[in-house]
Amino acid sequence: MNLKNRPIRTCIACRVKSEQNTMLRLQCNDKILLPFSGKGRSFYLCKECCEDIKKSVKSLYRQCKNKADYEQQLKEMVEIWKTK
Ligand SMILES: [Zn+2]
Repeated sequence: MNLKNRPIRTCIACRVKSEQNTMLRLQCNDKILLPFSGKGRSFYLCKECCEDIKKSVKSLYRQCKNKADYEQQLKEMVEIWKTK
């Protein structure tokens, strides 16, 4: 068993806990969705929720405390993330 200390994070959409490095880390800045810049608040989405944008976008409204066109933005973030 690997006992390395791996950070565990919670998905904002489904609340499932996963290893940080398997999740998409984002932040929200003035209604713009961004990959985490290293500063400020961030949040995580798991792989499954990245496949279900329509569901996850509702959690983004809650997380960012506003409603912007996050659906399109999230799609783009996921596309970039997947090609990494
Ligand atoms: Zn999830």
